[in-house]
Amino acid sequence: MLTNDQLNQWDREHFLHASTHFAQHARGESATRIVTTADGVHIEDRDGNRFLDAFAGLYCVNVGYGRTEIAEAIAKQAHELAYYHSYVGHGTEASITLAHMVAERAPAHMNRVYFGLSGSDANETNVKLVWYYWNVKGRPEKRKIISRWRGYHGSGLVTGSLTGLTPFHAKFGLPMAEVVHTEAPYYFRRPRRDMSEAEFTAHCAAELEALIEREGADNIGAFIGEPILGTGGIVPPPAGYWEAIQPILKKHDILLIADEVVTGFGRLGTMMGSTHYGITPDIITIAKGLTSAYAPLSGSIVSDGVFKVLEEGTDKFGPFGHGWTYSAHPIGAAAGVANLKLVDDLGLVQNSRETGAYFQNALRERLGSHRFVGDVRGEGLMAAVELQRDPDAGTDFDAADKTTAQVVGAMAKHGVIARAMPQGEIIGFAPPLCITPAEVDKVADVTAQALEDVTGAL
Ligand code: PLP
Repeated sequence: MLTNDQLNQWDREHFLHASTHFAQHARGESATRIVTTADGVHIEDRDGNRFLDAFAGLYCVNVGYGRTEIAEAIAKQAHELAYYHSYVGHGTEASITLAHMVAERAPAHMNRVYFGLSGSDANETNVKLVWYYWNVKGRPEKRKIISRWRGYHGSGLVTGSLTGLTPFHAKFGLPMAEVVHTEAPYYFRRPRRDMSEAEFTAHCAAELEALIEREGADNIGAFIGEPILGTGGIVPPPAGYWEAIQPILKKHDILLIADEVVTGFGRLGTMMGSTHYGITPDIITIAKGLTSAYAPLSGSIVSDGVFKVLEEGTDKFGPFGHGWTYSAHPIGAAAGVANLKLVDDLGLVQNSRETGAYFQNALRERLGSHRFVGDVRGEGLMAAVELQRDPDAGTDFDAADKTTAQVVGAMAKHGVIARAMPQGEIIGFAPPLCITPAEVDKVADVTAQALEDVTGAL
């Protein structure tokens, strides 16, 4: 086995990490964590530290770590057939079975799945599906996609544009001209403090209408949104939001893409987040929970209505010119089949609903009235605690103090991993769906303790 020193040296000299301060990392100024093993909700690092992972990796290891059922399914698939492609009608037993299983779990009007590898590439596929759809319908000018500020949809070219977080745009020359952003459904950060939730929902709807008016409905192909904002701060929508938004999209012939990369397969306590919020999408993006990240796989689930147009298009113009070498990769598909079976067998959607409700309460109880907590929010097993310098006055901490990063660092010292969300002073939680009430108690206790560790002297 390599020594820690050797790994550290190679890491600094050769490995460009995702979303990392390259210069600090190369100089050895930032922390590294080399993860070696994991089981259930716990991970262990090379220094022998054991952590309760209350963010499930990147909200993706939904069934928990160390599931031999999935490891064995992957090994069996690799032995029998490590790879075959899905071009021009090719497939494998695993990919066909998984498509069927996904359709069974999707809303009833959605029955076809296009498989990719990541949430980002699935959303790239979705934008091409939208553009193709409107071309077939004879309306090629319907190209613009509406996204929301604080939405997260990936970090490719069009998906990084869809993402409504400035670090994903700045210095890359994004967003692309085809992408326009509307108001984030973020009640805690509403424009006026005296706005009721209903008034804020009406405000979001009015902003959307105004944007459509400015851009012209004839130029807009689709709207994309996560049922609950994820990376943008883990923000459930205000009451009535989706009920207000959907008729506007319908009225203007704008397709709806529900990005369920995080919410798909149980995170909110329902199989799909769309069902949870009464959303009727034309396309759903899935990834993370599809395989619980045991292998990379994503998908675009298309409605029967969209599929009819795709059929018509290919009858007119020939094969759909889009695909990746690894689309529907059999190892990912085998992982997906075993994973979705486990979600059912272990009753994880129900656990997400029940232990999720318990977790939301535990966080509110332990942190709701803390002097530096502005908001505690969430749904199912997705939650956030937003910190403020003075919640009564609505003043924020100075970003340069990195208060949340310090709290999350202190939590790790107490053996719990949470995520300092990328924009704002927000501690994020999205543990594996198999977490127990005793474990969520520990997460809430450690959060309260770490907050005191960092802010006790302020
Ligand atoms: N969509 C949502 C809602 C996500 O949260 C993410 C990743 O966190 C993505 C898309 C992009 O997925 P990936 O990182 O697999 O490309």
